[in-house]
Amino acid sequence: MVSVIPITKVECPEEDIDGVVEVLRSGMLAQGAVVERFEELCREMTGARHAVAVNSGTTALVVSLEALQLAPGDEVVTSPFTFAATLNAILEAGAVARFADVRTDDFGIDPSLLDGVTSERTRVIMPVHLYGQAADMDPIAATAERLGAAIVEDAAQAHGATYRDRPVGTWGLAAFSFYATKNLQAGEGGVVTTDDDALAERMRILRNQGMRARYEYVVPGHNYRLTDLAAAVAVPQFARMSSLVAARRRNAEVYADQLAGIDGLELPATLPGRGHVWHQYTVRVTDEARRTRDEVVAALSERGIGAGVYYPSAVYDYDCYRDHPLVRIDGGCPVAEELGRTVLSLPIHQHLSEGDLAEVVAGVREILA
Ligand SMILES: *Cc1c(COP(=O)(O)O)cnc(C)c1O
Repeated sequence: MVSVIPITKVECPEEDIDGVVEVLRSGMLAQGAVVERFEELCREMTGARHAVAVNSGTTALVVSLEALQLAPGDEVVTSPFTFAATLNAILEAGAVARFADVRTDDFGIDPSLLDGVTSERTRVIMPVHLYGQAADMDPIAATAERLGAAIVEDAAQAHGATYRDRPVGTWGLAAFSFYATKNLQAGEGGVVTTDDDALAERMRILRNQGMRARYEYVVPGHNYRLTDLAAAVAVPQFARMSSLVAARRRNAEVYADQLAGIDGLELPATLPGRGHVWHQYTVRVTDEARRTRDEVVAALSERGIGAGVYYPSAVYDYDCYRDHPLVRIDGGCPVAEELGRTVLSLPIHQHLSEGDLAEVVAGVREILA
């Protein structure tokens, strides 16, 4: 069955194509002036002093951790309710992964649970700004400061999100993704933003084979570079970011208004002091609902409405992680596991028409009300 209202829609406006073709004609396809322009736009988006472009959001997380030069046994505490990339990056950096369970209001780390999973071995706290809403950064940052730990924000889904009017991306190191379905996209791409001069310099070196100046290798590095070709896809989108966010906010308001009051359907909220950019509009189908979450997904897709499950389980809840020597599950994270059974994301993107929204609302009401 063809999805009539897809959960995400990637559109490249005609005027954006010229910039990409220009790169093709220039003969300079790899990292160059367009990547520099992309980095400048990422600095403007976050207010950070530095932006280091890399080839994916996952790479941005990995190079952030590498720049912090963790030692064996050092621990990174993150959210159990996230995309696998968050955990994969920690393991690739050779650190121990531990989890502080999440809250159901912002889907981010519950700061009150950090004490139970942090210690003098905690070198990094890695909050995830899930679905486009910032995690509760004040208490998370206070805990990090007390421990002398760094913060690496997983901001893959949160371009332009704010916390007390401060854009995400400046609490330490922050990784953004420009994967095709993110709010801003380059097909594949990523960036790390930071105010720290030394860490930014180290990431630029790690990105380029560990080379400080031509053939001057100072550390074994990697090829993490972004291409001008990909950067050219993303560059024109920054100017449209505020209208994209405004459209997503309007769509969220329609759902908040028209999906309220259905038994067993918990709607997402923007918490006070947060600027939500609505990467996803994620509801919870609880036990009080007439149908299970999986039944709702199936019934929506029969109606041609794309519904996504992000994510179907806690991130550690797969054999390859459960039995991994660097993954510490401790007592488990019951809230994340429960969310895995109940969450469901409805289409929220900026290309939805009023008719599309009405169809989604009618579909959900028919299935659950
Ligand atoms: C998409 C995503 C990533 C990884 O980004 P890629 O660009 O796909 O490598 C990491 N964390 C979260 C929460 C994501 O949604």
